[in-house]
Amino acid sequence: MTKRIVVKIGTSVLTAGTRRLNHARMLEIVRQCSALHKEGYELIVCTSGAIAAGSERLRIARQPDSLAEKQMLAAVGQSRLMEIWEQLFTQFDIHVGQMLLTRADVEDRHRFLNARDTLRTLLEHRIVPVINENDAVATAEIRVGDNDNLSALCVLLAEADLLILLSDQQGLFTADPRTNPDAELIAEVEDIDADLHAAAGESKSGLGIGGMKTKLDAADMARRAGAHVVIAAGDAPDVILRIVAGEQIGTRFPAFDTPIGNRKRWILGGAGASGTVVIDKGAATALSNGGGSLLPAGIIHVHGSFERGDVVRITGPDQTNLGRGVVRYDSTDVSRIQGLQSDSIRETLGYAYGPVVIHRDDLILM
Ligand code: GLU
Repeated sequence: MTKRIVVKIGTSVLTAGTRRLNHARMLEIVRQCSALHKEGYELIVCTSGAIAAGSERLRIARQPDSLAEKQMLAAVGQSRLMEIWEQLFTQFDIHVGQMLLTRADVEDRHRFLNARDTLRTLLEHRIVPVINENDAVATAEIRVGDNDNLSALCVLLAEADLLILLSDQQGLFTADPRTNPDAELIAEVEDIDADLHAAAGESKSGLGIGGMKTKLDAADMARRAGAHVVIAAGDAPDVILRIVAGEQIGTRFPAFDTPIGNRKRWILGGAGASGTVVIDKGAATALSNGGGSLLPAGIIHVHGSFERGDVVRITGPDQTNLGRGVVRYDSTDVSRIQGLQSDSIRETLGYAYGPVVIHRDDLILM
């Protein structure tokens, strides 16, 4: 049975397509969350809308153009946004707790565990965590950038069973439904492949950031972590309750049967910052067939700079994304031992941390 649910609410849902937060719409979401909460479910709300709330409060009608202005709007809007969520949940006798995260909070293993503990403690106390990105301070390097991916990180942190991405669209279509009358809603997605990415396009709407592309990325991450994912329209009646009841609505992505363990969740969530190791075809085949470790012999390039213990991307020679893993050597070392047999690591570097660059236990293949 689904117990722990992350509900992600995009700006277009919160504003009902206008430039102002729509309190009636928010109340409707809170009512559904509260009903589930009373039944014993654990709810986590991942909310957008800080920038929209800031623009509303300061009466700024145009789109913010500089980063500083966006951050100012987020600073003003976040407290307003939180005030509204708090007032609405209070009507149902439910406490909320705000957590503002950035990528840096999940990239570092200690911070990941710390954020996870806070989230768990809130849930244990039957408090609804309300999560957004810490937009007021997040710089480009540490931003998640969109709340679809942020909500998937919430799934990783909370070990949630279900992620509901509420959008202004009914779900994922075979083509853009706004321009193509033949577009059909896809009820269930088994494989998130290149065709699906092409169908999703790079759609972006008004005040929010996430389009369908970021939703697919988020769905991919969340289902690997063992959560079912549903993309559905935020304005559909009782949408959250119907999804939890198992009704066919929107687009559903079933969870992977064998979700990754705890440490690998962190690797999945934390990757992206440090750098990339490019491996040859033989190594790529060996990794995907045999579940082995990545040896220096299979590495052909190193991009970026990373420390021993960082999470790096692994790509093939044609730049296809193969996975992520924790490196046992820093980037300078890896570039010196790339292409070599493992038994010459010590001779080359003057020391060795073992024969592998990324151990299979620290590796996630995509
Ligand atoms: N964190 C942003 C906000 O609160 C929203 C990001 C998004 O829409 O994905 O305004």
